[in-house]
Amino acid sequence: MPDYRARRLPNLAGPAAWESILGPRTPLPPLDGTLRADFAIVGGGFAGLSAARRLLQLEPRAKIVLLDAGQIAQGSAGRNSGFMIDLPHELTSEDYAGADAGSDRALIALNRHAIGFAAEAVAEYAIPAGYFRRDGKVNGAASAHADAQNTTYAHHLASIGEAHEILDASAMRELTGSDWYRSGLYTPGTVMIQPAGYIRGLLGGLAPHVTVHENTPVTGLVRLAQGWQVQTLKGRVEAGTVILANNGHLESFGFAERRLMHIFLFACMTAELPPGTRAGHECWGVTPSDPMGTTMRRISAAQGGNRIITRTMAKLLPGMVTTPGQMRHAMAMMREKFDQRFPALKGFAMEYSWAGHLCLTQNNSSIAGRLDQDLFGAGVCNGLGTTRSTLTGIAAAEAALGHDSDATRFFAAQHLPNRLPPAPLAQIGANMFIRWKEWRARRE
Ligand SMILES: Cc1cc2nc3c(=O)[nH]c(=O)nc-3n(C[C@H](O)[C@H](O)[C@H](O)COP(=O)(O)OP(=O)(O)OC[C@H]3O[C@@H](n4cnc5c(N)ncnc54)[C@H](O)[C@@H]3O)c2cc1C
Repeated sequence: MPDYRARRLPNLAGPAAWESILGPRTPLPPLDGTLRADFAIVGGGFAGLSAARRLLQLEPRAKIVLLDAGQIAQGSAGRNSGFMIDLPHELTSEDYAGADAGSDRALIALNRHAIGFAAEAVAEYAIPAGYFRRDGKVNGAASAHADAQNTTYAHHLASIGEAHEILDASAMRELTGSDWYRSGLYTPGTVMIQPAGYIRGLLGGLAPHVTVHENTPVTGLVRLAQGWQVQTLKGRVEAGTVILANNGHLESFGFAERRLMHIFLFACMTAELPPGTRAGHECWGVTPSDPMGTTMRRISAAQGGNRIITRTMAKLLPGMVTTPGQMRHAMAMMREKFDQRFPALKGFAMEYSWAGHLCLTQNNSSIAGRLDQDLFGAGVCNGLGTTRSTLTGIAAAEAALGHDSDATRFFAAQHLPNRLPPAPLAQIGANMFIRWKEWRARRE
């Protein structure tokens, strides 16, 4: 009987479009047999791959095995909108600002550390420039309320000395080709990634030094006299130390039970736009000024096609699965948001639609540190998965090696994630609250 058993495995609806537009890749074979390693990492998203890279930096001779339940870059790591954001991005706030200036400055420094770590990997592993662009991003505002949220956020950024620029309606039209926005707040520090391209690039760079098995769900962990036996369907890894970097499925193993909010987000991507389509600059990214609004992004051939991506609708799903009805509802909503912004493209084909998983906690705590003897966790991004999960991966690797850093101290000082009220009432209440916030942000 395992000490920790996976009660659920990832089950995400729709294709990971960012992977699909890059073309097929032959997956690495599933684990079949027994391996021995210094470290076993469960999960090959931002957190798991970053943990592997950090372990190698600190212990170049370490034997590392990384297992993913699916194909790497087909999990949520290949399903997001690709904004690697450096600034506070509290999804539960009114305008993304964090608690106070001091904590925002500390968080920005850590976020930039994670982005710098990613940038070094991009250079070292020769990841194509189109997969990691230092473009910055814009918070778009369509209503007077959102415009005011942008102004408040701009004042906050000014107070902490962060660069930003207010764009008027015509600048927004020039950038996006859409008349929808009345203003925007540009900040330069966000890196726009092709998420699957970046993740594949990390995998390619790490693969010569790390043993990776895909389509290998970890089903249980058994404590050994020293370290752990990591069980899979057809094999096992005996490892001195294990890092669980499996996003909300940390809870599936019994960790942080009833403390994680499993949020599912939905997105869609157009078919290739016809040449000459009026859609502004070649590449841009607009997050909503109101965190509950809609994210839009345009990409080019260098990311896999001339396309527009729409992301909207959030759902709290403690069972970690979406239904076909939820997918249809999300698709109808995204269709409407897209058509509002691009009336000339009304009804234009959406080639891909999908759902993905992110984790929030009520008090914004993440998990990056010790879970048990020789067992560490990395995850819970609180809305900033590309950056924060990278950081949790770095910190978990450092903690596993007893290495002291700003990142390990930051996470060690965090409180445990708050306990959530009992389901299902809490789920119903939270989803009603989300719906209301989305309704309020309906123009955004
Ligand atoms: C539509 C959408 C848009 C988003 N946009 C953004 C954005 O623009 N910017 C941003 O920062 N974040 C965004 N996010 C959030 C971001 O994608 C996630 O937070 C991020 O992927 C989390 O990274 P991770 O490495 O912690 O987890 P994941 O990327 O989920 O990786 C965890 C891995 O663990 C594996 N796993 C799970 N259980 C097991 C098991 N038992 N055995 C083996 N492997 C297992 C999974 O297969 C998966 O590959 C978005 C999310 C969605 C869904």
